[in-house]
Amino acid sequence: MDFTLSPEFEDLRVRTRAFVEQHVLRLEAESKNYDPHENIRLALLGPVQAKAKQAGLWAPQAPKEFGGMGLPIVAWAVMYEEANRSIFGPLAFNCSAPDDGNMNLLAKAGTPEQKEKWLRPIVDGTVRSSFAMTEPAPGGGSDPGMIRTRAEKRGDKWVITGHKWFITGADEATHFILIARTSDDARKGLTAFLYHRDQPGWRIVRRIPIMGPEEHGGHCEMEFSGLEVPQENVLLNVGDGLKITQIRLGPARLTHCMRWLGLAKRCMEIAQEYVSQREGFGIRLADRESVQIKLGEIAHQIQIGRLLVMYAAWKLDQGDRARKEVSMAKVHVADTLHNAADVAIQLNGARGYSKDTILEWIYRYARAARLVDGASEVHKMVLARFMREEGRDFWSWSAGNRV
Ligand SMILES: Cc1cc2nc3c(=O)[nH]c(=O)nc-3n(C[C@H](O)[C@H](O)[C@H](O)COP(=O)(O)OP(=O)(O)OC[C@H]3O[C@@H](n4cnc5c(N)ncnc54)[C@H](O)[C@@H]3O)c2cc1C
Repeated sequence: MDFTLSPEFEDLRVRTRAFVEQHVLRLEAESKNYDPHENIRLALLGPVQAKAKQAGLWAPQAPKEFGGMGLPIVAWAVMYEEANRSIFGPLAFNCSAPDDGNMNLLAKAGTPEQKEKWLRPIVDGTVRSSFAMTEPAPGGGSDPGMIRTRAEKRGDKWVITGHKWFITGADEATHFILIARTSDDARKGLTAFLYHRDQPGWRIVRRIPIMGPEEHGGHCEMEFSGLEVPQENVLLNVGDGLKITQIRLGPARLTHCMRWLGLAKRCMEIAQEYVSQREGFGIRLADRESVQIKLGEIAHQIQIGRLLVMYAAWKLDQGDRARKEVSMAKVHVADTLHNAADVAIQLNGARGYSKDTILEWIYRYARAARLVDGASEVHKMVLARFMREEGRDFWSWSAGNRV
């Protein structure tokens, strides 16, 4: 077993860290740089993205032939964590959600023509994308088997009617991946379609107001009233919609975790700065054991999360779907991010509750982590199911000899 980072990945980590330090943190530090939805103003994003491209730190998850870095998933873990030391980092490097998951999916599932048309502009950073799956009740949420948005074949086109919501980025996205029902078959009833924002037959009903800061393009409710999609814009085959969600969501859930670990570490950084200066009742806060215990607890939660993420990343790189490992990482890191922000706010006293630091931003953002890409309960249900089905083999190591 070898936990050493290769010189190449260590170089990537160091360069990402330096870039965030030099170009990104200062943008995050000034309130005038934020848009009304608490994200970086687009006018400032372009220049920092150009610098990231020039530095060779661009789209780590996308194939080289399309302008990305073509890195294995363990290297994403190294880079993403450093990138999200700043809340603006992943956008600067074009590795933020939902684009990173969509790029990875299109690279894996698209035909050469689909990749050229739909993937390349997202990698270039000239367009943004959305993945539209979730529906309001009684449609598909945690259970994709309940998806009601329908696609019906008419001639050589698919005609789509239905309702989606919480679709991240939709208000500003150009390229959409839409999951719709094409039959009532339990395994093969869903299909993934590609469509362009300018096509008629759909509309954004509203940008849903949320408690946290927003990705560019918000989280939208959408109505489909006859969107026409040609057969050539079906991703993989008709009936492969569930497969598409699995190809996308495994790595996408893990990249959320990679970013969240960066944010959790930042929370600890801000907490440590404060407690090392602030005095009360005759000593520094940092010298109190009760404060040290709080920090120590989060430190070990973060490190457990890093190991879970690296293991899942490594398994994905081996071609394994890593469903158990991704679920474990997702549940643990979502909780860790929330706990890290909470403890950091507490240790900063009233300052933690203010907007003088980014802790309150992270705290509100963190609450969504236990919901997005599968609620924690659903991941735990999946783990219990695997444990039931696999018995003692549930615990086997990948390359270990089974006894
Ligand atoms: C900020 C944000 C961004 C999002 N972005 C996107 C996006 O870009 N594209 C997209 O398609 N979707 C997106 N979503 C939707 C997200 O994926 C869903 O909210 C999530 O899958 C849960 O579905 P639901 O909201 O319908 O919850 P429901 O299925 O209605 O479940 C409600 C609650 O019931 C509990 N529950 C559900 N099932 C079980 C179970 N089996 N066992 C025990 N308890 C259970 C959980 O506590 C769950 O939170 C986003 C959501 C948020 C909040």
